[in-house]
Amino acid sequence: MKNMTDTSSIRVRFAPSPTGYLHVGGARTALFDWLFARRYGGAFILRIEDTDVERSSEEMTTGILEALTWLGLNWDEGPYYQSKRLDLYKQAGQRLLEGGHAYYCACPAGGHTIACREQASREGGGAVRFRVPQGTVSFKDDVIGEISIESDTIEDFVLLRSDGHPTYHLSVVVDDIDMRISHVIRGTDHVSNTPKQILLYRALGAPLPAFAHVPLILGPDKTRMSKRHGATSVMAYQEQGIVPEAFRNFLALLGWSPGTDQEMFGDDELIQAFSLQGISKANAVFNPEKLSWFNAQYLAKLPDHKLIAYLKPEFINAGLWRDTLENEEADRFKLLLEALRPRSKTLHDFVRQSRPYLGTTLEYDQAAVAKVSKEPQIREHLHTLADRLQSLPDFNHQTLEAVIRALAEELAVKPGTLMGGARVALTGLSVSPGIFEVMMILGPETTIQRLRTF
Ligand code: GLU
Repeated sequence: MKNMTDTSSIRVRFAPSPTGYLHVGGARTALFDWLFARRYGGAFILRIEDTDVERSSEEMTTGILEALTWLGLNWDEGPYYQSKRLDLYKQAGQRLLEGGHAYYCACPAGGHTIACREQASREGGGAVRFRVPQGTVSFKDDVIGEISIESDTIEDFVLLRSDGHPTYHLSVVVDDIDMRISHVIRGTDHVSNTPKQILLYRALGAPLPAFAHVPLILGPDKTRMSKRHGATSVMAYQEQGIVPEAFRNFLALLGWSPGTDQEMFGDDELIQAFSLQGISKANAVFNPEKLSWFNAQYLAKLPDHKLIAYLKPEFINAGLWRDTLENEEADRFKLLLEALRPRSKTLHDFVRQSRPYLGTTLEYDQAAVAKVSKEPQIREHLHTLADRLQSLPDFNHQTLEAVIRALAEELAVKPGTLMGGARVALTGLSVSPGIFEVMMILGPETTIQRLRTF
């Protein structure tokens, strides 16, 4: 048994194959590995399993690194590339041959028979196969519990192909030994590989790591998460205007539970609360509405500087950015963000709703204009309001409200009529944040000018 108080030796790895983008399941595995390393002050190692030359690509590797970086899952070592470590696997194959744990197999592809093992040679050519020993392979998975399998159900699997390339089982075990991995935390789809890998550890004379296989992620219809359920690529969520804090919090609860009802977790809280015991055996269900809920929660409370950092590229793309928003106009810009926070579920919602405030020209919703135009003399009233605002010494919520109420009384109209008219004149829309906020976001100059020219 591992001594869990000896935390200095905690070493975990995330080992993606760059044959596709980083998908939600992979990201969740990486998050659990990262949380576990951070929880115990261990090391989180990134290893790119790119020995399958045909199916791996550099572009996919770049995409995976980008997605991990976006998610904030910083690694302490690596990325190591298996394609650059081929000698290590060959040497291990050689040791296994020499120790009688493996043999050359010259059978035609797919035609391996047990007879081949009888004539097994330590020299020659062809693929190198593992000589699966007799007996029972048992281990205790930290999530699933006891697992036991008879080794006669495992065929002599290939370690090195005839071209000298390692198979997954050999490279993964050699690397996990070489990198002194203490805990293999990975998707439950690898449970069936574990007995073979345990046999390899034994043959190589290495101590076993702990194993923890995390449950699958299913779509809302309880079938394995796939594109039918929405985006499976992590970066697609960035494109949808999800912030990494929210995605991380959401992913953490896919297959792990703190044992309480708490749902919102800052990183430090999550790290403190995380444990392998909290990982569930049952499959997790990906609920897009829950993700959207988390995102809205985070958008509502992210510190301004973080929110602005996420929004800036989006504003730039939309042609709505100017540097003064972070300088001369910073106060008004922050008021705008405050007004939009409760009205936004994604970063895109901010951008879309910012147009009337940050755009150089105002687009009017014709239905909204037609509706307020029915109020008698509304344009004259709004022009008078502009005059009153012109002579207002202090432009704040109270003074604005006082001016509108006084003017409404003077003109014998309802304050709501003036406010409704002002809303359309100032935003072009019939729905907006509170009218006094709108005026303060726009500032006196633009407010007065839009009221005058309506
Ligand atoms: N490279 C494997 C994969 O992407 C993971 C191997 C492992 O975690 O043991 O599925």
